[in-house]
Amino acid sequence: MALLDSKIFHLPRKWMNEKAPPDRPYKPTTVEHAANVITNGIWIPFSIWGSFSLLHRSTNWPQLLVAVVYGVSIISIFTLSTVFHYTLFCRREGPIKEALHRCDRAMIYIFIAASYFPWLTLTRVPSEGLVAEMWWLIWVFASLGIIYQQIYHERFKWLETIFYLTIGVAPGLAFLSIDIPSIFKIQVGGALYILGVFFFKMDGRIPFAHAIWHFLGAIAACIHLLTVLETLYVEDPSVTEGLLKFEP
Ligand SMILES: [Zn+2]
Repeated sequence: MALLDSKIFHLPRKWMNEKAPPDRPYKPTTVEHAANVITNGIWIPFSIWGSFSLLHRSTNWPQLLVAVVYGVSIISIFTLSTVFHYTLFCRREGPIKEALHRCDRAMIYIFIAASYFPWLTLTRVPSEGLVAEMWWLIWVFASLGIIYQQIYHERFKWLETIFYLTIGVAPGLAFLSIDIPSIFKIQVGGALYILGVFFFKMDGRIPFAHAIWHFLGAIAACIHLLTVLETLYVEDPSVTEGLLKFEP
């Protein structure tokens, strides 16, 4: 734990502020604030393009449902986070900042569920067992996470991180029993999220830690979105023969 309790880099104030006490949020420097805005903002156009591609390639109702749920979630997470970090950059305090902070955190739970949603909805998951139930269970987990987070907002930060990790990883374990051709890319995205969580906890110890968390999370989200597009929204049905529950 010594690594977590000490400052890893010793740099001028411009690049990183002191680590926050346990009951207070870290105060990023101006350049860190700017990096936090940019590292989410640049992905908004990509998420819009990806969502419209999903809609455009939908040939049945389940695909359309996934396109809407997944598309809205990915656009929302980048947009909400960008707006929230912009309010921090502008040093705005008050109820709007507080509400945006809560929404930003809640959106992570929704986005985790939404990231599993295409695979659970469109592929031939087993009709019995844990994977079969995951389609609705993942939203229950996300809802419980949001309720917890709204009640104990910023109070038990490590516990909240453990919840994010559990909700993010546990449903993925159920997938190991089914044959998904793109599983490696999905796992690479998942590994980037987990690596990102390390930086999420490194405010005040590694400069730009939060921006690095954004960046790794955004790359993971892009890998997942592109994998959904190239695996579940193919124009040639023979590519995914036997994988899709609903024939295109
Ligand atoms: Zn952020």
